[in-house]
Amino acid sequence: MTALGLSRELFLVWWGTMGLFVGSFLNVAIHRLPRPDLGVSKPRRSFCPGCRRQLTWRENVPVLSWVLQRGRCRGCRTRIPVRYPLVEVLTAGLWLLAAWSLPEDSVGVVMVRTLVLSGLVVATFVDFEFFEIPDEISIGGLVLAPLLSLAVPELHAESALSRAFAAGAALPPMERGDAVMQSLIGMMVGAGSLYGIGLLGRLAFGRDAMGLGDVKLMGAAGGFLGGPRVLVALVLASFFASLAGLANIGRLYLVVRHRDRARGRSGGPGQALARARVAGRYVPFGPYLALGIGIVLLYWNDVRDWLRWS
Ligand SMILES: [Zn+2]
Repeated sequence: MTALGLSRELFLVWWGTMGLFVGSFLNVAIHRLPRPDLGVSKPRRSFCPGCRRQLTWRENVPVLSWVLQRGRCRGCRTRIPVRYPLVEVLTAGLWLLAAWSLPEDSVGVVMVRTLVLSGLVVATFVDFEFFEIPDEISIGGLVLAPLLSLAVPELHAESALSRAFAAGAALPPMERGDAVMQSLIGMMVGAGSLYGIGLLGRLAFGRDAMGLGDVKLMGAAGGFLGGPRVLVALVLASFFASLAGLANIGRLYLVVRHRDRARGRSGGPGQALARARVAGRYVPFGPYLALGIGIVLLYWNDVRDWLRWS
């Protein structure tokens, strides 16, 4: 038995379905937050950006509508990006992962995880498209983190402070004031470390490597994760971003080489690589930060064991 008196399986089916519908709402936020002429509730009903027609409920069913309409608007045949069903399935999957640890983790912890993961989905897809993270997500997180730490102090049960006091014994229940303190320290560690890296990047490469949106996002993440865990999330994010950056440069290198050959230009591999590096410079960091934060949020115990033993 879990919340609502349902069996665990039934609860998870219901929870995943809720995730699909919230994913549908997150799509609206992803489309509207970076566009200043639109608000999340303005206009209230969803519409096709192609023909401005209001969508009926049949066109708003998560995943199913997209599949049945073969990815096109029923009115004007405008393509509906595959991002729509993707975000819905991803959100449902993340909601399930967040609730999987019930009933070992408290309902409060699961709710906060669900909220954070949903915010990260929005930040990720807006950043991919617009190279910015909406303030609604990052500043929203900065405001909510200490408040939710006050409401759900177990969020910070893993904090270094309580572990030091416990000294190997079972963790004592987290005090509310202590949890808020951990949240505030985490915000400073998260934002400060990324700001510091950005400063070093500017000194080393003479250009802005880091957006302020990333700094705010990491500050918010630190408020939920606490100082030590947000640093691990940053290390994971840097690792994934480097992999993706190398893959991107490799891809652009092949594109440049292919184009040079097609045009009969003999730039040579060295020149192609240099141009690929220039073109591949602007990779948004936000999605990788979100990935690192999500992994630490969901799988901290595994990450910690792995760090300890490797
Ligand atoms: Zn249309």
